[in-house]
Amino acid sequence: MITDCHIHIQPIEMFKPAALEAMKRKRENFAQIEEFCRSPKAFLKHMDACGIDRAVLINYVAPEVIGFTAGVNEFVAGYVKADPKRLIPCGSLHPRHTHNIMADVEQLLKLGIRMIKIHPPHQLLFPNDYLSGVKELEIIYRAAEANGIPVMFHTGTSIFPGARNKYGDPIYLDDVAVDFPKLKILLAHGGRPLWMHTAFFLVRRHPNVFLDISGIPPKTLLKYFPRLHEIASKTLFGTDWPGPGVPDIKRNLDDFRALPLPDASRQQILSGTALTIWPA
Ligand SMILES: [Zn+2]
Repeated sequence: MITDCHIHIQPIEMFKPAALEAMKRKRENFAQIEEFCRSPKAFLKHMDACGIDRAVLINYVAPEVIGFTAGVNEFVAGYVKADPKRLIPCGSLHPRHTHNIMADVEQLLKLGIRMIKIHPPHQLLFPNDYLSGVKELEIIYRAAEANGIPVMFHTGTSIFPGARNKYGDPIYLDDVAVDFPKLKILLAHGGRPLWMHTAFFLVRRHPNVFLDISGIPPKTLLKYFPRLHEIASKTLFGTDWPGPGVPDIKRNLDDFRALPLPDASRQQILSGTALTIWPA
């Protein structure tokens, strides 16, 4: 059972023009991506062709930088109805774009969202801003913790116009891991490419912090994380397709499989860790 924990299937019509331009750059087959975002059936077929059994569909609220509103939650909840066993919905909330955070959290739970994404460089906030008065963040983390819903944080840089990269440093998640010890925290992209050491430290330091390797070209993965096998039990395979720089899911999977990792580690990263987080 292979899970890609990081695929962007999202409402394309919400993109701001500059963000859409960044998505389309160097991509000849954007029409195919548009089709997948419209049609879960077409995308499930593509997953079959790539050898992916389950996909976590990443959505988040980032009106300023990308254009995504809270409408992404209804979008992804509706999309996964085509096959709830294979399609796992990830939604989001934004502390500055909510009138009633409690009601919005409840709505998210009602929609059946199975992961929450926080994207600091696109949401323009630090993950530990609850320490400086952003109470909404604390409410989101508490609700996720209480309901066993993991929170994925983008860590590392972003090349989208308007993204602010100071927010991408994973060190601010050290506070979150300490203050919310039962919250499952997923570090998307392992701090790529500036903060891999910080990410590796956090995964080893905190029992509740996990690594999502998406967005790191598999061929360079072991250069960035030479001791990856030591944290295999907390590492998840993901591609970040169709993010800029991720041409193809299948090639990503093939390249990952070709890495000189112990078999048990490879299996754990492709399958085992995701099954503990989202049981089949
Ligand atoms: Zn992503």
